[in-house]
Amino acid sequence: MKCRKCGGAAVLELRRHNVAFCAPDFLEFFRKQVSEAVRRHRMFTRDEAVLLAVSGGKDSLALWDVLIEAGYKTTGLYLDLGIYDYSKESHAKCEAFAADRGAALLTVSVEQEVGAPIPEVRAVTRRPTCSACGLSKRYLMNKAALDHGFPVVATGHNLDDEAATLFGSVLHWQTEPLARQSPALPSTHPKLVRRVKPLYRLSELETAAYAFLRGIDYIVEECPFARGATSLMHKEILNRLEEASPGAKHNFLYGFLEKARPAFERVAEVELHECARCGQVTTGTVCAFCKLADQVKRAR
Ligand code: SF4
Ligand SMILES: [Zn+2]
Ligand SMILES: [Zn+2]
Repeated sequence: MKCRKCGGAAVLELRRHNVAFCAPDFLEFFRKQVSEAVRRHRMFTRDEAVLLAVSGGKDSLALWDVLIEAGYKTTGLYLDLGIYDYSKESHAKCEAFAADRGAALLTVSVEQEVGAPIPEVRAVTRRPTCSACGLSKRYLMNKAALDHGFPVVATGHNLDDEAATLFGSVLHWQTEPLARQSPALPSTHPKLVRRVKPLYRLSELETAAYAFLRGIDYIVEECPFARGATSLMHKEILNRLEEASPGAKHNFLYGFLEKARPAFERVAEVELHECARCGQVTTGTVCAFCKLADQVKRAR
């Protein structure tokens, strides 16, 4: 296998692009995909301060590495979910990464904000763990950005994550999530910051290869609640499709973004209000986060 760019020995074959690269040319390809995503969706400029949600996993740390190298102004945001050793270890990875590069890292504790760590939230609500956790993460990311004056929050969602989310939404024809699924969601309210996913053009395998080649020390273990999650099952199904027909995931996601999403966007326009309790944005009177926090308080 030869590198498509320099003809040297390739270390990685990207079947969906029908190319192979040596290590330096793969890193270059990876960086270009990120800058193409940022440019195409006007995610942020070099003058804007970007709050980057980091979990300690390969995707968010690979993204942070690319953005720091490219000279963007980034601050990491670690949401401490209080999930046993998994949270302790992932926090340590983020702290070490930030310290190595002299980068700033904010930490927000879910226990302080919601009233209990995720395992306890799980015990007192009937919601599936990942649903309560995902809701809290989205809320706290937005709140941290508002509190600290960041106009934009970036996350490390990759092509596989996005394709799996899309697959799940399509299976149930959930029109609202379909309208919201995008590499870049603009701010539609003064209290809602822009949300962007600069890795949406890169697969999980590619971010893993990038992290490995750059010597990034990330947490390999998954969150203990991820086991058995339907999103993992959807990823497996898509991986099987990808095996048989390289580029399937890419075509599924890109085709949706180009051809189908605008139609869903038109149907799902909703009016936004400020939550009567916390002032953040909601479609109702009291936001879902405040309701969750109430439920936790009552149960304690
Ligand atoms: S797997 Fe579920 S519980 Fe674990 S961090 Fe992700 S959303 Fe939260
Ligand atoms: Zn090469
Ligand atoms: Zn609220």
